[in-house]
Amino acid sequence: MEYNNKLEKGKVWLAGAGPGDEMLLTLKTAELIDRADVIVYDALISAEILSRIPSDKETINVGKHAGNHPVPQEEISRILVREAEKGKNVLRLKGGDPFVFGRGGEELEQLVQAGIPFEAVPGITSSVAVPAYAGIPVTHRDYTSSFHVITGHARKDGTLHIDFESLVKLDGTLVFLMGVSSMEMILNGLMDAGMDPDMPAAVLEWGTTADQRRVTATVGTLKGEADRAGIGTPAIILVGRVCSLAEQLHWAEDRILGGRRFLLTRPRQNMSALAGRLRELGAQVIEMPAIRTEPISPNETLKEALEQFQREEGERWLVFTSSIGVSVFFEQLAELKLDIRDVLCGRARVRISAIGSATGKALASRGLFPDLVPEVYNAGELGKSLAHTAAPGSRILIVRAEKGSEELIPPLLEAGLEVEDVPLYRTCYETHPFLRDRICTMLRRGEIDGVTFTSASTVHGLVRALEKKEGDSPAREAFDPERIRALCIGRQTAQAAEGYGMRTVTAREASIDALVEMIVEIYSKNI
Ligand code: SAH
Repeated sequence: MEYNNKLEKGKVWLAGAGPGDEMLLTLKTAELIDRADVIVYDALISAEILSRIPSDKETINVGKHAGNHPVPQEEISRILVREAEKGKNVLRLKGGDPFVFGRGGEELEQLVQAGIPFEAVPGITSSVAVPAYAGIPVTHRDYTSSFHVITGHARKDGTLHIDFESLVKLDGTLVFLMGVSSMEMILNGLMDAGMDPDMPAAVLEWGTTADQRRVTATVGTLKGEADRAGIGTPAIILVGRVCSLAEQLHWAEDRILGGRRFLLTRPRQNMSALAGRLRELGAQVIEMPAIRTEPISPNETLKEALEQFQREEGERWLVFTSSIGVSVFFEQLAELKLDIRDVLCGRARVRISAIGSATGKALASRGLFPDLVPEVYNAGELGKSLAHTAAPGSRILIVRAEKGSEELIPPLLEAGLEVEDVPLYRTCYETHPFLRDRICTMLRRGEIDGVTFTSASTVHGLVRALEKKEGDSPAREAFDPERIRALCIGRQTAQAAEGYGMRTVTAREASIDALVEMIVEIYSKNI
């Protein structure tokens, strides 16, 4: 990180990641995730947030249970000191806010003792955000003028150290964290101290995530209702008149895709459009790119092919099959110092073809408007319509991925066209070492509604990233592709997914719009 490059010792940023919804990360924490050398994180950090961590980043999971115990607090502090002493910039990532029952203070004390510089970065605490996502404002002029955050964590001897009498007198909203296992003691304690058993109360599980659940009742009935619903951790218990507002103010689960979680496998370069659309509709989105594209650079083959193309006398076609291909093509022109006017000059105007609307748009934004886009957006159709349209003997220069679809060229050759296929980039599979087990567990538990695939290679890449490898410990979570509902952009993609036994649905046409439309049709609550 630039702002620390003069220090020999590293530095620790103690940061809150918020209650689960990735969009509740602060800008500062999001930036630190990109810039830290190592990230030390807890069990409560959601998969959505973990997926923001670049896959080659060093991470240490201190929420992992060894036997039944998470890494002890002293050990966590030792890890922070050790990493910082190596000169690293360490991001210590905690759920919610680091100082709200996060033991952040203890970790900083150890850093002070070791002389390690640090910053504290507040996060959005679950004590306020989880009620907000349940439609419960923690204060309201008509109901209460204060709220109080209390730990419901029992001591080793099983008792609670809570002054219930004082709490009842405060007459404010009471927020209990870590209170699920002592819920009965908490509620009885309040009633014994004189609270009306009819006082509204709620328990809110997995707030702000796609799994969030709300049980509203009264202090007298909450325990029974929560048991009936099978509420577990993490959850907060909320007591106070404001709880009754949830009935009227609930909103999160009512969004079109509220309560839905999708895994996206597109490469990051063009991921955000789809993710943004789904988030806007209320879904939680885990972005786990299954593939990455690496431009071939410098691309001498392209240079030669273009020079040859310029000299061609007859009809000439330049063919693009992806928007990434378009951007890599123009990057290469810059790299090879080729001027687009020279590339396209010649006796007749060069004709241009794009596989689909997104590729067409990428070309249009560079001032090139395709002469031919097939009606159905796939390589086979592109080949057929080009074979049909191009004059006999035309020269066809295809610029695309190294291992492009095999369906494009045969129709062109059959039509007697002269074809040259120039690779612009290669597709590499991504791995996600620290996310892999979490995703497999979520798939097994049915917590991921669907996985979007925008090409056959994203299907192969995801399977590669998740399948068990030789030498993996038998304790590692198994991966079962049959648990995946594959939301596919087109026929070839669906075929690849079916090959692994996934259940598939395919968009009406191969475009992001059609994919989103299909997802809304299948999963929406309101339509
Ligand atoms: N520092 C955290 C709290 C840590 S204590 C914060 O500021 O939010 C852990 C407790 O927080 C859990 O036992 C639970 O009571 C609460 N909690 C954290 N995330 C939650 C969530 N998404 N939904 C419900 N409760 C949550």
